Amino acid sequence: MALHRLIYVSQAATGLGYPDLVNILEKSERNNLAVGITGMLCFGDSMFLQVLEGNRRVVSQTYNRIIGDKRHTNAELIDFSEIEQRAFGSWSMKVVELGTLPEVRNIILKYSSTDKFSPISINPQQSLRFLVDITELFNRGTILGVKP
Ligand code: FAD
Repeated sequence: MALHRLIYVSQAATGLGYPDLVNILEKSERNNLAVGITGMLCFGDSMFLQVLEGNRRVVSQTYNRIIGDKRHTNAELIDFSEIEQRAFGSWSMKVVELGTLPEVRNIILKYSSTDKFSPISINPQQSLRFLVDITELFNRGTILGVKP
């Protein structure tokens, strides 16, 4: 079945903390590995931006499960399209907290009208480029991923 990429944004539930991010990371790594999903989850300013890549059926099933999770609300689908190749193929899931580093702020500003992380107002191409840019920062060790 065709390879697809899904990107969505959602709002974190009140009181969501680091242990929740660790729990999400652990569940995601385990479940996604089993079904061939790769991707990345960014968390900042109480918002999530996540990309999932894999075959259409498993990505749909995983997204349907994720949007029922009480740890976030108001999920909005930004993109769900067929792709030629994965852009986040190295990980079953990485979770990164955006934080306040100038490098992160510059990437937010590159795709938004303000330096507040607000993925609700970016389009599919911008959201993909944003996630790729953040991944590069992560690969350079500038930002760290959530760790169990
Ligand atoms: P269990 O862990 O046994 O969970 C059973 C039910 O309890 C689920 O409905 C779950 O939503 C809920 N639940 C579990 N822990 C908590 C908690 N601490 N607080 C509130 N409710 C809880 N899962 C993936 O498989 N892949 C992903 O990429 C992925 N990304 C996610 C991104 C976000 C922003 C969020 C909030 C969750 C994500 N999850 C992801 C988790 C997903 O929503 C399910 O919790 C998980 O897939 C269920 O795993 P499980 O089948 O082992 O069930």
